[in-house]
Amino acid sequence: MKHSALRRDLVETARAINTLGINQGTSGNLSVRVEGGFLITPSGVPYDECGLEDIVEMDMEGCYSSVRLPSTEWRFHRDILAARPEVGAIIHTHSTFATTLACLHRDIPAFHYMVAVAGGKSIRCAPYATFGTQELSHAAVKALEGRRACLLANHGMVCIEDTLKRTLALAVEVETLAEQYWRALQVGEPFLLEDAEMDLILDRIKTYGQIRPITPAKGDGD
Ligand code: 13P
Ligand code: ZN
Repeated sequence: MKHSALRRDLVETARAINTLGINQGTSGNLSVRVEGGFLITPSGVPYDECGLEDIVEMDMEGCYSSVRLPSTEWRFHRDILAARPEVGAIIHTHSTFATTLACLHRDIPAFHYMVAVAGGKSIRCAPYATFGTQELSHAAVKALEGRRACLLANHGMVCIEDTLKRTLALAVEVETLAEQYWRALQVGEPFLLEDAEMDLILDRIKTYGQIRPITPAKGDGD
């Protein structure tokens, strides 16, 4: 079978998003870039029943030849991979706190310095669009400009990184930030870090751990 190691990574990561508590049921979907296209989770298959042969290989035109139907969100996976050459893996989840904020159409602002791990001074919430549509794909690609993560209004979140392992770690981080922001909002209006401080943090974080540079957004200074 072609790409069997990557298929295994994808299935294991798909199971991990549920066991880590950042997704539930058959919600969410994951992809990883391969030569000429990407591998993506099948639509509506429980992750613990998903075998390597259930993973769908698609080209960048959205063509595939597997028995399983690809995730309904293949368009935003395809479009993000096309727009962002540095991205190797994408995870979309319906994690509880990120989704709660997304239902309030709230960006996650600079309430904590770790917001910078997503690449900027905020984690944007993309406007609402119906699941599986090209409109949702456009909204996600735009909200991800200069970022590694975004929320999807009334839906969930998307994280992108160079590898599946890093994307999973980022998804856990974004959900943690969403929970912390939500908890702070229960008590009052969180203090936000100033722009100049976030500039400093964005610079410092370039050398923190193994964080990789991301493609800068056009005309986006932050
Ligand atoms: P799929 O099972 O088709 O991937 O759909 C899940 C989902 O999260 C849609 O947004
Ligand atoms: Zn979804």
